Amino acid sequence: MTELAHDNLDWLSDLNPQQQKAVVHGDGPLLVVAGAGSGKTKTLAYRVAYLIAKGTPPERILLMTFTRRASEEMLKRAAGASTCGAHMTGSVWGGTFHSMANRILRMYSQQSGLPSDFTVMDEGDSADLMNVVRHELNLGRNDKRFPRKSTCLGIYSRCVNGCEMMEPVLTKHYPWCLEYKEQLKALFSQYVIRKQQRGVLDYDDLLLYWLQLLSSDAMAREIGGRFDHVLVDEYQDTNTVQADILRGLRRFNSNITVVGDDAQSIYSFRAANVRNILDFPQQFPGATVITLEQNYRSVEPILETTNRLISQARERFTKDLWSARREGQRPVIVTCRDEATQDQFVVAKILEHYEQGIPLHKQAVLFRAGHLSDSLEIELTRRNISYHKYGGLRFLEAAHVKDLISFLRVTENPSDEIAWFRILQMIEGIGPATAAKIITHVTKSHDPRALKTFAPPAAAKANWTELGQLMDDLVTAGEGNPAAQVQRIRSFYDDIMAQRYENAQARRRDLEHIEQVASGYKSRRQLLTDLTLDPPNSTSDIAANPLKDEDWLVLSTIHSAKGCEWDVVYVIHASDGCLPSDMATDNDKQIEEELRLAYVAMTRARNFLYVTWPLRYYHRWGSYTDKHVYSQISRFLNDDVRASCELASFGTSGYPDDRSPMDDDIVGRVRNQINSMWD
Ligand code: ATP
Ligand code: MG
Repeated sequence: MTELAHDNLDWLSDLNPQQQKAVVHGDGPLLVVAGAGSGKTKTLAYRVAYLIAKGTPPERILLMTFTRRASEEMLKRAAGASTCGAHMTGSVWGGTFHSMANRILRMYSQQSGLPSDFTVMDEGDSADLMNVVRHELNLGRNDKRFPRKSTCLGIYSRCVNGCEMMEPVLTKHYPWCLEYKEQLKALFSQYVIRKQQRGVLDYDDLLLYWLQLLSSDAMAREIGGRFDHVLVDEYQDTNTVQADILRGLRRFNSNITVVGDDAQSIYSFRAANVRNILDFPQQFPGATVITLEQNYRSVEPILETTNRLISQARERFTKDLWSARREGQRPVIVTCRDEATQDQFVVAKILEHYEQGIPLHKQAVLFRAGHLSDSLEIELTRRNISYHKYGGLRFLEAAHVKDLISFLRVTENPSDEIAWFRILQMIEGIGPATAAKIITHVTKSHDPRALKTFAPPAAAKANWTELGQLMDDLVTAGEGNPAAQVQRIRSFYDDIMAQRYENAQARRRDLEHIEQVASGYKSRRQLLTDLTLDPPNSTSDIAANPLKDEDWLVLSTIHSAKGCEWDVVYVIHASDGCLPSDMATDNDKQIEEELRLAYVAMTRARNFLYVTWPLRYYHRWGSYTDKHVYSQISRFLNDDVRASCELASFGTSGYPDDRSPMDDDIVGRVRNQINSMWD
């Protein structure tokens, strides 16, 4: 019996009756489907605590969330709210589908036909490998229209994640690539072989191999048998492969709880399939369905607006919610003259709320795409307001960070050719052809020290010995103490970085951060895995011991804001073209998803919501066609929505000002002409 045997479950009284019903649900499938802020995540966290309190060993619980941070927070919440301590919730298997897949595949690498030292490539590397194969096959050599590497990877990924054949994927999502169907097939099959030869997996493979493992009865029994309960948050954003994995896991035990909201499904571009949540009762027969009706997050006026907003959706299953938090300010829609005045408005409001006692980290600025906060970031820096940005370009995508990690990767898996290529490119005097020869040489012996037996071109000799020495040291260091290995790499790489990139000082700090992170790991493999699969969203994610009194504003893409809440939310650039994004207005389905994005953004607000849009906006259409454009307010902020809001304007008096639209067009044209000289 556990120490919790006498728990009288008083702590469940924090929840309303419907939530409690979900928490104490017995065996069998359970679906909790409800709108934003109704306590789905809280309920799931309490259910984990309840299962532990009732005697389920924590290591027999699998909790799937959209990010590692989300699962950590839920488990902390579960421990804090209940009588089970963090030492217990800490043993729950918690994380993303991909990181759980990685864990399982390491345990069962033999059965999966994988080398035990397989490494995982991120999206950038996968696209690079796709490109290498494409060149080798001579595909689209003289054909500029042949899909680019990221498009090829996108097509491949959609087929895999959506379990769809290539033809329908091309017809539906990439019609301009249809004529290349046969070449793409050849490309993909070679890409798959190449990954197998090199012992590398891409993100999609992690799921695919896991699913394949589960297709055998014996393995489904073995792997599924590890878990008494499987729980999934944000189920509306799972894709077909993920749903199939869950079915495989639960073939011999039907204890599965999923929670989600179809109105918040925003990942169809990653092949997420909202049908998963709608069809759950058919896919898991005997499922109990519980709906929640009360919103605990937002004050009533905000809820009124978000209910009106989502009522524009054509298809929707979750019901409107009500809030007991009746008092509050109506959302404010603010028309700003241009981006600069939008920035000024947002900064002024942030400071005003700050003065009223709402710290910066309880305020968030949300936007549709990473670059939409560029000018605001400059303003915040100028005003000395610290902020952390989530989404957009990830920390790990920065070139210098990838460089450093490549050294760790080739030590871990000496056949990882993309990582080798990256390293060899840094060495002066080595061109692509020599790099290819070196890679063949090294991968043959599957030992990074084999570098030393390759005779480099004369121009590369100076650095060659040093690189060989580095590889020696890294291999000798073994699997443990990754921080020392990072330090050793930095001593080799520092000069190279200073020569290759600007801003060496800031980059050096990033690498110091990685060393700090590494010091929390005992094994290089685990460090690499976490960095690739649950990459930190921003440097702040990995900064060690932030100062206690440090406070910062949150900037985030809407996608990265999923599941979060703040006292004050500013949704900026709420104009047509930005929200909905003009990249996603080809068909009704895309527009519908953009509406759900707007809904996710606005439902993050607890007490204050500001939605701003600039009348004039500097649009980046690509490198050669930047220009100022005149915006329209987002089509989602229709009369009905606006009627529930305060309407305000900022900096628009006396408008139009001294610069006419014509001036902007001229500026744009001149710029384009100058740029296109180098086309
Ligand atoms: P989303 O759809 O945005 O992910 P959600 O349904 O998961 O939202 P939660 O994040 O779990 O909602 O809860 C929203 C807020 O409401 C949180 O601050 C949570 O603590 C609070 N809350 C949930 N249920 C209750 C309750 N029964 N009593 C008081 N507060 C609650
Ligand atoms: Mg949630």
